[in-house]
Amino acid sequence: MSMPTVLLVEDEQQIADIEIAYLQKAGLQVAHLVRGNEAVEFVQQHKPDVVILDVMLPGMSGTDICQAIRQFSNVPIIMVTARVEEIDRLLGFDMGADDYLCKPFSPKEMVARVLALLRRHGRLASLSKTPVFEHDVMGQRISCRGQRLDLTPQEYRLFAVLMTHSGRIFSRGQMLQMAYDDDSEVFDRAVDSHIKNVRKKIAAVLGEQVVIHSVYGVGYRFEVEG
Ligand code: CA
Repeated sequence: MSMPTVLLVEDEQQIADIEIAYLQKAGLQVAHLVRGNEAVEFVQQHKPDVVILDVMLPGMSGTDICQAIRQFSNVPIIMVTARVEEIDRLLGFDMGADDYLCKPFSPKEMVARVLALLRRHGRLASLSKTPVFEHDVMGQRISCRGQRLDLTPQEYRLFAVLMTHSGRIFSRGQMLQMAYDDDSEVFDRAVDSHIKNVRKKIAAVLGEQVVIHSVYGVGYRFEVEG
């Protein structure tokens, strides 16, 4: 059985990065969308186990998304608002959300709410006690089965891009763009050698299990299967 999947719809990248790190640390798989208009279709196609929905989003508002999802799914939904007064307003709509969080919230509180909803909906059976990977965003460290991976700064940056967007395919150029804010001295082909090194370091812990998948002609994708 695979890990429970959380769909996070959040357009503020910094907030999303922290949320993703905490959810993954709790053993959850995270899919992240920035644009609201992609969320309904994603839920239809991928059937996540829980949805965290920001209210103010580009493309489609969280309230509209919530109502649209409720036409076909009972997936637990947590609405995230920027203002505490807004929660009252949202409750008035009775649009079928299961829980509400107001920014700024502690990531631990968010994880606790997510786990509570998963438990209530009987979707926690597949959550393993020890996640395969743990990402300490603040400390810029990644652990595999509890062992810290000894990554160079460049390896860390590139791997963190893949890891925080589990399941998503990245070209080498996209990885470089996301890993480095400014024009960097790293070239496309250098990505391959860094990824090769990261794979070796992971293999020292996981053995044969492949988590960084090569996508022929495109680039790379991170996914822990099973
Ligand atoms: Ca927003």
